[in-house]
Amino acid sequence: MQEESCMVQSPAGTLIEEKEEEPPGIAAFPLTREFSVPDFRIFMPKNALKIPLTYRINRTKRVARTLPKTRAFRRKFFHDVPDREWNDWQWQVSNRIRTYAQLSQILSLSSEEQHAVERLGAKLPMGITPYYMSLLSPDDPCQPLRRTVVPTMNEFVRMPGEADDPLGEEGQSPVPGLVHRYPDRVLLLVLDFCSTYCRYCTRSRVVGHGAILPSKSRLEKAIDYIKSTPTIRDVLISGGDPLTLSNERLEWILTRLRQIPHVEVIRIGTKVPAVLPQRITPKLVRMLRKYHPLWMSLHFTHPEECTPESYRACAMLADAGIPLGSQTVLLKDVNDNVETMKDLVHHLMRMRVRPYYLYQCDPISGSGHFRTPVEKGLEIIKGLRGFTSGYAVPTYVIDAPGGGGKIPLMPDYVSGRQGDDLLLRNYEGGVFRYPDQQGDVCFNS
Ligand code: SF4
Repeated sequence: MQEESCMVQSPAGTLIEEKEEEPPGIAAFPLTREFSVPDFRIFMPKNALKIPLTYRINRTKRVARTLPKTRAFRRKFFHDVPDREWNDWQWQVSNRIRTYAQLSQILSLSSEEQHAVERLGAKLPMGITPYYMSLLSPDDPCQPLRRTVVPTMNEFVRMPGEADDPLGEEGQSPVPGLVHRYPDRVLLLVLDFCSTYCRYCTRSRVVGHGAILPSKSRLEKAIDYIKSTPTIRDVLISGGDPLTLSNERLEWILTRLRQIPHVEVIRIGTKVPAVLPQRITPKLVRMLRKYHPLWMSLHFTHPEECTPESYRACAMLADAGIPLGSQTVLLKDVNDNVETMKDLVHHLMRMRVRPYYLYQCDPISGSGHFRTPVEKGLEIIKGLRGFTSGYAVPTYVIDAPGGGGKIPLMPDYVSGRQGDDLLLRNYEGGVFRYPDQQGDVCFNS
């Protein structure tokens, strides 16, 4: 591996020396189904188990490193930027598209978008990595990925039932930046910075406003709280996006948490593999794997996010033994149909990411244009269950407004009872009997 050494400014503002290995953009990685595991099984060499899996796959079949649209975008807007910079996550962060002037050079903006970007003010800022920008349609304001990151005037419309903090996180925060809702786990907000801001963000009241800093003094208070609360066995590190911290700052947090005997599991919530896959470097995963059991909740929204770069990033995390799950928000005109969701979960399965939760969009202020009726979520689960692998079916949940926590919702599969038999409806609508002599479960009868 080639190593580069340079002084960089982390999003936290600290100047650090970063020795970063060549980013993963140089290696080939399979995107399509055709790369196939059967190739690997047929040609598996005797000593295959000694070779990392991705390496074997890469040797079997090489495919494009990036999508044609990303290449075309680079040629048009960043033609003088060498691969080494484009594939450097810090370059991507430093060159985010953040202003109307930048955005209007790249996209032909609708008047809804144009007025919104000019008016943002105290609202959630705009920020889009050049990489993610390359996936947006330059002409179509209705393209799903574009809707999720480019502001529109709909954000300024407040609907009944919406709130800035719908989940009541502020009221469940014993120390700043730490939410303690469930008895055995906490949410540790380490910073409020993201490389790309989602327009439906549940924490838009704080994200991107410089309200939550990754300062050691603040984090020490949160860590002291965890240390003095022995019921906490699981810490979810979130934000903002924790993977936009430098390796050093992230490792400091992980080390401190691992020193607490009752913390069994650490989880990191991140959208980086979708919006900034260049951040997943060999050096980062080598550091992360020291802190097992470490899990990751990734945030994928649409199949068009599943690019060769994202596949590669997830492969590196999975190869480091990190169990990966995806949390997807159900969004109107983005992913609110069975076909799109099926395509997404199938991509995720190939990326070794378990589709974990499908969230009903929280009633955050200005999110009415993203919310679907609850029936839509149930319809999607019904369209997946039985029609694809069980592992590919996420749990559909509503995070109850007011801090009630996640409540799962399922289509009705129990259709009633006849005598001692429970009547169950299968995925095709057929009714089957289960002998349940001692039971008294009876729904919808
Ligand atoms: S990545 Fe997460 S925290 Fe950041 S803007 Fe998107 S939803 Fe919000």
